[in-house]
Amino acid sequence: MDKVTPPGPVEIGPDDLLPRLRDNGYDAERVTRRRAWIERKTSAELTHIGSISWDSEMMRGNIENPIGVAQVPMGVAGPVLVNGLNANGLFYVPMATTEGALLRSYERGMVALTKSGGVQTALLADENQTAPAFFFNDTAEAAAFAPWLDAHMDDLRRAAAETTRHGRLTSLKCYQTGRQVIVNFGFHTGDAQGMNMIVRATDACCKWIQASHPGLTYFLFSGMCGEKRASGFLMSRGKGKRVTAGALLTHEVLRLYLHTTADQMWRLWQSTIVGNIQAGAIGYTGHAANGLTAIFIATGQDVANVVNSSCAATIFEPHPKGLYVSTTLSALSVATVGGGTGLPTQREALKIMDCHGAGKAAKLAEIVAAAILGGEVSMGGAIASGEFVGAHELYGRNRPAAAEETR
Ligand code: NAP
Repeated sequence: MDKVTPPGPVEIGPDDLLPRLRDNGYDAERVTRRRAWIERKTSAELTHIGSISWDSEMMRGNIENPIGVAQVPMGVAGPVLVNGLNANGLFYVPMATTEGALLRSYERGMVALTKSGGVQTALLADENQTAPAFFFNDTAEAAAFAPWLDAHMDDLRRAAAETTRHGRLTSLKCYQTGRQVIVNFGFHTGDAQGMNMIVRATDACCKWIQASHPGLTYFLFSGMCGEKRASGFLMSRGKGKRVTAGALLTHEVLRLYLHTTADQMWRLWQSTIVGNIQAGAIGYTGHAANGLTAIFIATGQDVANVVNSSCAATIFEPHPKGLYVSTTLSALSVATVGGGTGLPTQREALKIMDCHGAGKAAKLAEIVAAAILGGEVSMGGAIASGEFVGAHELYGRNRPAAAEETR
């Protein structure tokens, strides 16, 4: 066998490092200079990346080393009729994607749900989580920590409140393993997704705890909280918003709009449950991640939160009048304040659903759940009726021209 020579270290000189621009370079002139530098370095023309329609200073806090914007195609799906605790009415849902057939599929599902009488939605819980780990001298000392925390809950609430106006410490739960105790801190985060807010507040709590336990050490993150990581814990305990959406699809709507029957959909659901079990999937959905990603990109959510948000459960059940369908998202991360929601494009998208700003996050969560349910029933219908490939051939292909393929 040939001996494989590992590549040697690559020399990078000062000319290879990105230019350090004053004030981190968010103003239009500096963004242009950085982009021009990359164009020179790589010979790529960046005309469209440079087509920013708003003040580039607004990117501060959302990105470093800005060179422009990524323009992603955006459409709307709907209408979906929502009869919820926090959202009521007909909604058109903005979605940004490059996957052809996606919006047509969600639209079809949403219209089917609307024609059947709409979707009931309920925000069931609203608590974001973060989970630092504390280390003790022995297991007895570690075991004494949970009752000590219980006794000092009010002090910790005060320590957290000094760092945020909207974040509120709502729960603490200890998970001891040997000499280590992971503490799950639960917070209500208002209309923000809240990770910056609650990590800062939790750090203040950890410092307060450390001051009362000389010598105690901790890591701010333990990996248990499930932020941007799929886990079974998210299905049971949840993270962020736990929201459910349910509807009765009538026999007539199933036939006219989804070209299938309640029996076919039920059999498909059972069979794919078996497939998902064999795959060791966390939760069960048809393609919740598809709709979540498209809505997250359009509305300025942190797209990596699709990993936790798509840990969800879709259920199709036979019903005398048709098929009862539901999707429950137990770890949905959505916001109408903070993160990327204030950027001009994303703010406009949120306004399509009247979901921008304070007091709107619960409403957005319920609209998202209803939209995701639309995608679930449409995909189920396409597979059950044998129309899946045809629909993608019609809407979802973008084959490069032959000459380009060989280039
Ligand atoms: P943020 O944009 O960092 O902060 C938003 C701030 O808005 C809040 O801290 C809050 O200030 C204020 N606010 C005003 N009106 C509010 C209202 N009605 N409800 C809630 N807050 C209101 O956003 P964030 O939600 O705290 O954090 C989300 C960001 O964190 C995302 O961009 C994500 O990418 C990033 N992230 C951070 C970490 C981390 O570990 N630090 C991890 C994952 C993701 P007050 O706090 O004073 O109330």
